[in-house]
Amino acid sequence: MSLTKIIKEKALDLGFVAVGVATAEPFTLYAEEIAGRPEMYAWGKTLGQRASVRDLDVTSFVDPARFIPGVKSLIVVTDSYWEEDFPPSLAGKIGRCYLKGLFCPEDNFHSQRRRDLKKFLQEQGIKSIYGPAPARLSGARAGVTNYGKSCFAFANEAAGKSSWIVNEPYLVDRELEPDTPTMKVECPENCRKCMEACPTGALYAPLKMDPRKCIAYNTYFTTGGIPREMRSKMGTWVYGCDRCQEACPRNKKWMEKKKPMNSKLLERAADFSLIKLLTMSQEHYEQKVWPLLYYIRKENRKLWQRNAAVALGNQGDPEAVPLLVSALEDPEPLVRTHAAWALGKIGGKQAKAALEKKRRLEEDEGVRKEIEEALKEAESEEQRAES
Ligand code: SF4
Ligand code: SF4
Repeated sequence: MSLTKIIKEKALDLGFVAVGVATAEPFTLYAEEIAGRPEMYAWGKTLGQRASVRDLDVTSFVDPARFIPGVKSLIVVTDSYWEEDFPPSLAGKIGRCYLKGLFCPEDNFHSQRRRDLKKFLQEQGIKSIYGPAPARLSGARAGVTNYGKSCFAFANEAAGKSSWIVNEPYLVDRELEPDTPTMKVECPENCRKCMEACPTGALYAPLKMDPRKCIAYNTYFTTGGIPREMRSKMGTWVYGCDRCQEACPRNKKWMEKKKPMNSKLLERAADFSLIKLLTMSQEHYEQKVWPLLYYIRKENRKLWQRNAAVALGNQGDPEAVPLLVSALEDPEPLVRTHAAWALGKIGGKQAKAALEKKRRLEEDEGVRKEIEEALKEAESEEQRAES
């Protein structure tokens, strides 16, 4: 059996749902795409200062030889993250790929499997580096995935040919037999459902997404206030967003397929409820949330509270009002600002009374302005309801 086949068999034995091999020349298409709109990616260069991930300079992914001089091939394995069902209480709040913990710091099945594959390659005398390549393009070049207009990679065969998958590229210093690339878009010609479903306009054209407008980016890669015009559009998402994938007819069959419940996640679901996230202690955050959902730094619990306040405002449940009123007393102006916004959004007597009281007492000018805006919003909401 050829070495390529041996490696592929091993990857499938380890439980990856697909594996392919690509050549390792520079990704010129990728280089052209990011050079055409550098302003959309500049944020990545300082990302490590804001989030608990490394800086992300996408231009560095263009040439695999930058990471392994003399790189010969790319092995691309595909992971399917929706083989088990997710607790319904988390739907519309946390992106499914994060809940699955594919890349989280917890030592889990996925990290062990990556280590196993790397060790296996090492035993074959192959030097490998995991990661530094454009994953979706690598998958298409390796013949395991194709594209959707949503910018997501869709499996050619695995996971019901859906986009609930991720490609994981390994750069290797060995010439392997490449697969036939599937660099194509396999969407129905007239379909635009993903673009229509995107509430923020981040997905602004087929195969074009502005990450700065994406809800996912705004939930975990920003550290200030969420722009006011964005808040209503975020719905109840607090970490990631799956709306464009959920709207996609190519994903429908897999979404409807009966799957066993992820029992471990079911046990943990209450740890991530919106109320819990708004009110959680630092201890809860560090022990229960961060080990799975780690992009937001440990010292930035307030960002989770910010996101939860916005989500609760959009959920519009009056039962959240007393907790949002308490959040108006939070030591962090960022939390008070977003709690005020949420109270304005939900409206009602108790919310208005709390905002009016706080308007007189609030010392931070920025928060006071938000309270003014929130009161206007609550009043116009009341007028709309009466008319
Ligand atoms: S993840 Fe959400 S916000 Fe981002 S492009 Fe898709 S629908 Fe739009
Ligand atoms: S929603 Fe339609 S256009 Fe968008 S990725 Fe799915 S099939 Fe393609």
